[in-house]
Amino acid sequence: MPESNQIVFFDTTLRDGEQSPGCTMHPAEKLRMAHQLAALGVDILEAGFAIASKGDSDSIREIAREVRGPRIASLARCKREDIEAAARSIEPAEKTRIHVFLASSDLHLEAKLRITRAQALDQAAEAVRLARTFAEDVEFSTEDGTRTDPDFLVQMITAAVQAGATTINIPDTVGYTTPAEYTALFKMVRERVPGIVGTDGKCNVILSTHCHNDLGMAVANTLAGIEGGARQVECTINGIGERAGNAALEEIAAALMVRHDRFPYTSNIVMKQLFPTSKLLSELISFGCSPNKAVVGANAFAHESGIHQHGMLANPLTYEIMTPESVGANSTHLVLGKHSGRRVLEQRLAELGHPLTREQLDQVYERFTELADRKKSIYDQDLLGLLQPEKTAAALA
Ligand code: MN
Repeated sequence: MPESNQIVFFDTTLRDGEQSPGCTMHPAEKLRMAHQLAALGVDILEAGFAIASKGDSDSIREIAREVRGPRIASLARCKREDIEAAARSIEPAEKTRIHVFLASSDLHLEAKLRITRAQALDQAAEAVRLARTFAEDVEFSTEDGTRTDPDFLVQMITAAVQAGATTINIPDTVGYTTPAEYTALFKMVRERVPGIVGTDGKCNVILSTHCHNDLGMAVANTLAGIEGGARQVECTINGIGERAGNAALEEIAAALMVRHDRFPYTSNIVMKQLFPTSKLLSELISFGCSPNKAVVGANAFAHESGIHQHGMLANPLTYEIMTPESVGANSTHLVLGKHSGRRVLEQRLAELGHPLTREQLDQVYERFTELADRKKSIYDQDLLGLLQPEKTAAALA
């Protein structure tokens, strides 16, 4: 049982992430990603959904056999064949978890599963009991938990805890909740479900977040869940996942690091592995992240405006709340463009071996602004060309 100030990172890049459009990976690619996730220090690695296909169960088994460090999990519905398939696939791992889930909202129970609330309670308890015969570590998720009647949510979680669930996940399956609402939900569950909080005030059962980004609030909601008492966060690299994706692991980890004053917790994440992990995933799936993606995007540490560049040269703390090196990214990039000032131009030309006098700089800067108005990206060779105006004219012709 982790200390109450430790945040457990549950990575579902290979399950929730992999099942989304454009993110399919072959078993060899999944294995490579799993090794990288182990190097990143994730605590739980959800390797797939064993019953989904033979390919999925074989892939989970290979990861369970080869990857050491994280606890290896498989997802399962509350069905005997799902739970048995999950148990078989994770069996070679050092540490295992079976993750069973059942919808708890009336909408899902009526429209999708066509079962009553009473049937749902029985199925949940029975599935958790069965899973516990295969694994000591069993997680139960109340699918669509944030759109579930609170009284019934308490009943369902109580049933799962009594049946032996060791982690309770309350997913915001459809990305619907808000931070304040999600905090209150965890507080309510801690207060009302017997056995969640022990007599010492610590959580006996770990509560978990699982947030989707349909309204762009997945990471904010995850942090709000922590404030409500959750100590496991489910997330993916680059925020991939169903629809608008899951909470991005790198953003949660960076928020916990940069705002340690607000979130005084520890984790096993190796921060310098964030960028390499993001990059590997981008190579394996069919898309990378957008340049302005927080923490790992190509522009996350790039500055073009003259005022910002001047500040960065004076003291990087003026415009960067974390260093690129701290998350394993390349160093800060001062982009030369039409918004740049003469100080950064002077510095870049000096770095290229051309220190200029004030008078020379004035002339070169004038030519630079003319060029920058016409050309979106300015490269080093363009700058060198500015020293010889006749060549620049030829290049633009
Ligand atoms: Mn999900």
